[in-house]
Amino acid sequence: MAKACERCGRGMEDGSLAFEVRIDVYADFDGVLVPPEPGRKTDDELRRLVARMADRDPAALMRDVYHSERHLLCPECRDRYLANPLNLPLPDGGPP
Ligand SMILES: [Zn+2]
Repeated sequence: MAKACERCGRGMEDGSLAFEVRIDVYADFDGVLVPPEPGRKTDDELRRLVARMADRDPAALMRDVYHSERHLLCPECRDRYLANPLNLPLPDGGPP
């Protein structure tokens, strides 16, 4: 048994059907740059931004804008994942 489902733990034989789920979460850019508040100079804003970033862990800063993960799922867990990838609340009476 060469692989296992990362959700239910079920072992899967070599050559059996399995699915890789790739989750890439990155900051959206909608093309709009918000201008600085009236009366603030752009270089002052930049200096404040750089000062804030200097205090933070570079890995944490990176996580704020990009996160990536990969998971191996069996066919049943793939179906379950795709049925509700955003983990939305289910209507009352639905399956748990
Ligand atoms: Zn599974």
